Amino acid sequence: MTALPDLAAIEAMDATDPLRAFRDRFVLPQGVTYLDGNSLGAAAPAVFAELQKAATDEWANGLIRSWNTAGWYDLPVTLGDRIGRLIGAAPGQTVVTDTTSINIYKALHAAIAMRPGRSVVVAEGSSFPTDLYMAEGAVSTLPGATLRLEGVDAPSIEDLIDESVAVVLINHVNYKSGEMRDMAALTKKIHDAGALVVWDLCHSAGALAVSLDEADADFAVGCTYKYLNGGPGSPAFIYAATRHHDVMRQPLSGWFGHARPFAFEQSYALGSGIRRFLCGTQSVLALRALDGALTIWDDVDMHALRAKSIALTELFIQLVEAKCGRYGVTLEGPRDPAKRGSQVSFVHDHSYEIMQALIERGVIGDFRAPATIRFGFTPLYVGFKDVLRACEVLDEILRTEAWREPRFAVRGSVT
Ligand SMILES: *Cc1c(COP(=O)(O)O)cnc(C)c1O
Repeated sequence: MTALPDLAAIEAMDATDPLRAFRDRFVLPQGVTYLDGNSLGAAAPAVFAELQKAATDEWANGLIRSWNTAGWYDLPVTLGDRIGRLIGAAPGQTVVTDTTSINIYKALHAAIAMRPGRSVVVAEGSSFPTDLYMAEGAVSTLPGATLRLEGVDAPSIEDLIDESVAVVLINHVNYKSGEMRDMAALTKKIHDAGALVVWDLCHSAGALAVSLDEADADFAVGCTYKYLNGGPGSPAFIYAATRHHDVMRQPLSGWFGHARPFAFEQSYALGSGIRRFLCGTQSVLALRALDGALTIWDDVDMHALRAKSIALTELFIQLVEAKCGRYGVTLEGPRDPAKRGSQVSFVHDHSYEIMQALIERGVIGDFRAPATIRFGFTPLYVGFKDVLRACEVLDEILRTEAWREPRFAVRGSVT
């Protein structure tokens, strides 16, 4: 076992961190160690500036003209292409629109229709629940279609794939354990069985370099309010590989996906390319906030990001196990950094109370039922001393059993 780094060593990690200047491009409250950017990313002055401009200049002065003059109409595709660089998608394949839940529905429908004669959707039992709920919804609208779940119907995805499967919906990084799938290898297995894949990138977009095109992915969806810092409820994205553009159809046939929305024709005519995945009028202020957040991402080297993410999560695991292992805190996710996203989860019998005590002390992570304490490491604004502080506070809470105070057991509606 390697020796535990001391304060000087940890300060040296911060001093030599090539991404440390990005911290100044975010605002975080004094005294807060924020390890929940995998749930809601931090705010940035660049976002406030774009929101201000969008409201007082483009909306107040430009009024309806701004759909053309301020580029509002094209925002879903211009922002989609900027996210494309982070997820390994060449231009023209990604749009920002709707929510991840809605985009899952659209992608599943499109994929199922492209595999006539096949009726099975495969997903992971351990998936973030909305993915499963939307898969249930999609299946319920298609007579004869069924859903098979990893961990319920068979132990692994590979065991569930056969010639009846139309599409596999799969998370790149699991929201709870942080475990990362091998995108290229799994995509190939799915294709070998004649099925299509929809990758959910909610916990990998902005957390590590994703390579959708290189992996030969079919469809992908993901959030922008987590690692991409677009703000609470900012619109999601959806990707479709160019090779599918001529045949793919999605069921939410609204006018923004029409070939000629402003011809006001009586019936739907399929638009071209990735715009097909748009439905109704876009949430412009939310898109403009994301626009501001992406100006920061435009400057980020994704390989430096991944290197720092691994260093942060490795340090956290090492320190927590050394300081807190004796109190029954057990690593939940992968030990191999190559199989880990940018988050670390531990289990403990009193995870909920422990997380509440951490939050009261300004160390913000989150709790995921039934017994997980989860910490997200966003390399743009989390430093190595933040990792040390989080471990020290966790150690204090466990050592003194401060989490036993009754107020920490009271549950809010959002955990
Ligand atoms: C966060 C998250 C979502 C959220 O979906 P919304 O429609 O934005 O509420 C969906 N799937 C996964 C895997 C997530 O992590």
